[in-house]
Amino acid sequence: MYNPYSLKNKTILVTGASSGIGRQTAIECAKLGANLVITARNEERLQATFDLLEGEEHQMVIADLSHTSQIEALVSALPKLDGFSCNAGIANTEPISFYKEEEIENVFKTNTFSMMMLTKFLVKKKKLNKPSSIVYTASIGNVYSAGVANGIYGASKCAIDGFMRTAAIELASKGIRCNSVNPGMVFTNIVDSNGRITKEQFDEDMKKYPLGRYGKPEDVAYAIVYLLSDAAAWVTGTALKIDGGVTL
Ligand code: NAD
Repeated sequence: MYNPYSLKNKTILVTGASSGIGRQTAIECAKLGANLVITARNEERLQATFDLLEGEEHQMVIADLSHTSQIEALVSALPKLDGFSCNAGIANTEPISFYKEEEIENVFKTNTFSMMMLTKFLVKKKKLNKPSSIVYTASIGNVYSAGVANGIYGASKCAIDGFMRTAAIELASKGIRCNSVNPGMVFTNIVDSNGRITKEQFDEDMKKYPLGRYGKPEDVAYAIVYLLSDAAAWVTGTALKIDGGVTL
């Protein structure tokens, strides 16, 4: 059946696959025929994603991406890839006067250093086929909009887009396309992970979204699928907003 977004015969790595956008991305990629390698830290939750994947040829690997040694071990264990959804991340909301160096380091290690080191090892160990596609999950936060107490998280996400553009140029001759998705608020575990936001505050904030709601994990997963697929064969260096129009 004709489908330009098919991922049949592609092997795709998804990080942060134990929940939210990463879990949904793995599910959608499997539905479109891909063989998945899924990774996250929590075995039970990763297994729950694994059990939801259509098809037989999938693998799961436990890794904490805030440790470079675990990133290198993960990459060494991988088969050759046609796609990589670089999605693992953590949130942080802290006013500037409360910043702690260790917290900044923790957020940057997980959100930013890990995507650079994953890319480095994938290239150095020749794990990416020609052609292949990398999709980094950034954010609208501080890339297209700014918010109080979003400095650490937002800066870690701006750095993703900055790196993505260089990677797109540097890796083009190897046939590796590099793009990012920039979601607005999507209902997942990461939203209000410290329980500070009330339902009324969420409802009020949602009114700012022209399309009338926050995102669902599949809203972002479908965009990642597009960028991983051959339908995006001429797309590299793009930061794709998926935000219900909120940044308009
Ligand atoms: P989530 O909390 O459901 O998923 C985050 C995933 O990253 C989890 O699987 C978690 O285990 C994994 N992870 C975190 N730290 C890790 C580490 N050290 N090593 C390995 N895995 C680790 O939240 P989500 O919303 O699905 O987030 C996915 C991505 O989307 C993140 O990068 C996040 O910053 C980004 N994002 C989310 C939103 C939103 O509103 N939900 C908006 C913009 C961007």
